Amino acid sequence: MLITDTGVPERYIDTDDWGGEVMLRLDDGWCAALDRDTMMCTIYDRRPLICREFEMGAPECIAEREGIATAYL
Ligand code: SF4
Repeated sequence: MLITDTGVPERYIDTDDWGGEVMLRLDDGWCAALDRDTMMCTIYDRRPLICREFEMGAPECIAEREGIATAYL
């Protein structure tokens, strides 16, 4: 969810069912700003606040990656 304006490009912004601005997800479920080849953020310097507060490699991060990795098995 986009809480503050960090400069996320409009093409990566979607509106949820409650009218809030969120990062657009593509059909594969991943954020539209994610480079699928490198698995790196293509808008790192302009990523949303919540992404900035999500510690890379933290247990929550690992669990999220594992959950997505097994979602299509
Ligand atoms: S850090 Fe991840 S979730 Fe956040 S904008 Fe970048 S690719 Fe999307």
